[in-house]
Amino acid sequence: MRELTKRSQAMGIDLFEVTDCIITHEHIDHIKGIKTLVKHSDLKVWAAEKTFEAMEEVEQKNVLIPHQPVVFGETKITPIPISHDAKSPLGFLVEDENKKALVLTDTGKRPESVDKYLVDLDLVILEANHNLKMLQTGPYPFLLKKRIMSNYGHLSNQDSGAILADIVQKSIKPPLCFLAHLSEENNRPQIALLDVGQALKEKGVLPGRDISLQVASQYKPSKLISI
Ligand SMILES: [Zn+2]
Ligand SMILES: [Zn+2]
Repeated sequence: MRELTKRSQAMGIDLFEVTDCIITHEHIDHIKGIKTLVKHSDLKVWAAEKTFEAMEEVEQKNVLIPHQPVVFGETKITPIPISHDAKSPLGFLVEDENKKALVLTDTGKRPESVDKYLVDLDLVILEANHNLKMLQTGPYPFLLKKRIMSNYGHLSNQDSGAILADIVQKSIKPPLCFLAHLSEENNRPQIALLDVGQALKEKGVLPGRDISLQVASQYKPSKLISI
C-alpha cells in the first residue's frame, strides 16, 4: 500500500480520489492494499462474481460479466475470460470512440475468448512472464515450475511474441506494446525484448517498424502515455 501511494503520488495521482478499480483476479499481487483503499475512500471495486467470493476484502460489489462492457464516461471496458489458476480471471479491452487497448496478463495460454478482440489495437499491455530456459533451469521448486508452464500459469516471452505477431497482422498501423508481469527470477527486461523480438521476426514482424515494444518495470511506474 505504501508503495502504491508513493508511485501514484509520483505520477500526480491521489489514490484516494480514484473512483473505480477493476480487479483481474484474486491473487495477492493484484489485490494487495484494496482493503485499506476501500476503507478510506469511496472507491468502487469491480470484479467477476467468483473473484469477489474469493476476496474477503470488499463488501460492496460491482460485478463484471465476461464480454459485457461497462462504461466509464467515454471509456468502455470489456472483461475477457482468460486461462489462469484463479476463480474467474479476466483480461480487458479498453476503448473509446477512437482507440483500443488490450490488457492481458496472468494467463497460461492465449485464451480463445480473446480472439475477437485482437483487431486494430492501438495499445497492448501483454504478459511476458518468463524465459522458458531460465524457468526450467532456475531455482523454483518443480511444482511451481509446472504451474507456471501450465495452461493456467503465465505466458512465456515466446508465447507473448506469437500473440503480438497476430495482433500486428490484424492492425492497420503499428501498435504500441508494453511487456508486463515479468518474473523477477526467470526473466530480465533485455531478455524479454530479445525473445519477443525473435518470435516476432520468425513471423515476419519487425519491432520498431511494425510494432513499438517497451517493457513495463515492476520497480517503477511507467510514464503516463497518450495514444
Ligand atoms: Zn495470478
Ligand atoms: Zn499476477
